[in-house]
Amino acid sequence: MKQLIDTILVTKAQQLIAAARNVVIITHISPDGDAMGSSLGMKHYLNSLGKNAIVIVPNEFPNFLAWMPGAKEDLVYEKQTAEADTALSNADLLIITDFQEPKRAGDALGAKIVEVGQTKPIIMIDHHLYPSDMADVTISYPECASASELVYRSICQMGIMDMSSNLNFATCIYTGMMTDTGNFQYNSNHPEMYEIVAQLLRAGVDKDACYNQVFNQFHAGRMRLVGYCLYRKMRLFHQHHVALITLSSKELKQFNFTSGDAEGIVNMPLQIKNIHYSVFMREDVDKIKLSFRSQGDRPINTFAHDIYNGGGHKNAAGGEYYGPLTEAVKLFLTNYEQYCQ
Ligand code: 5GP
Ligand code: MN
Repeated sequence: MKQLIDTILVTKAQQLIAAARNVVIITHISPDGDAMGSSLGMKHYLNSLGKNAIVIVPNEFPNFLAWMPGAKEDLVYEKQTAEADTALSNADLLIITDFQEPKRAGDALGAKIVEVGQTKPIIMIDHHLYPSDMADVTISYPECASASELVYRSICQMGIMDMSSNLNFATCIYTGMMTDTGNFQYNSNHPEMYEIVAQLLRAGVDKDACYNQVFNQFHAGRMRLVGYCLYRKMRLFHQHHVALITLSSKELKQFNFTSGDAEGIVNMPLQIKNIHYSVFMREDVDKIKLSFRSQGDRPINTFAHDIYNGGGHKNAAGGEYYGPLTEAVKLFLTNYEQYCQ
């Protein structure tokens, strides 16, 4: 397999890891499968080197990721701030995975990373555009479909530990690769991806079980919510090949909404012929959370970035709006024609 990551970066990261005893790994807010896979995969690797490694997530991860090896030991910054701050004070090294700027770790943890980063080294392993200069070693490859794949590649290139039989590590990496490609439906044409998958399967990963754990564990309310969204809430703007689904907090309550229940809904309108863009908005506690998806060579992250202070990948992006849902929708109606062509 080609060595994707610059050898100088790998060597620098390896030196920082070798010099560290206590490592804190941090991933992004509202952790998804790749956030969990990349951070936990790194943790299992560091543990196998005999190092102490603690993963901090900004807020709670969804239930359908709780089965991932090591997930239950994660510190949730929102709830376990004191414990997490102690871990950060004791750390010799910070590794951040699957995000590229402090704000993606949430306001409080983002500010804390910047503060701690003044005196401690940071390694970033990420695949988003425009990495900030927050890290000492920035392993950033947006062409890579998942941060988990980058963690795997980095470790392989370091070559100091044979991870081929570490099932916990392999399971976390596989899960991240699977979720960030929608079970290998998009961003998944690179042949080397399947060479890595083959290696992970040889390590004992049960890929069918991973799929089942992630995608087939919803409660009935979530399925009814999906039905409601598609039947009642999906608006189609055929001329511009766009779909919009919005959910108010009142509607969410009706379906006993819990974290993770909105997962994948934004992708569904793309199953309609000639619908190439999809936007999903839901009312959160203090803001509107937006998800954007597109197909092929149609960037949607510009819409998320310019109008909703967000960003992400060409075909999968997100953003936030601080104001009422009706205003967020108005902004959409004013701007979609420009961004969806
Ligand atoms: P999702 O729709 O699954 O929440 O997010 C899709 C992708 O959009 C994420 O992988 C992340 O790269 C990006 N993203 C989601 N929310 C935000 C946000 O609020 N700000 C930025 N910059 N990117 C986001
Ligand atoms: Mn990712």
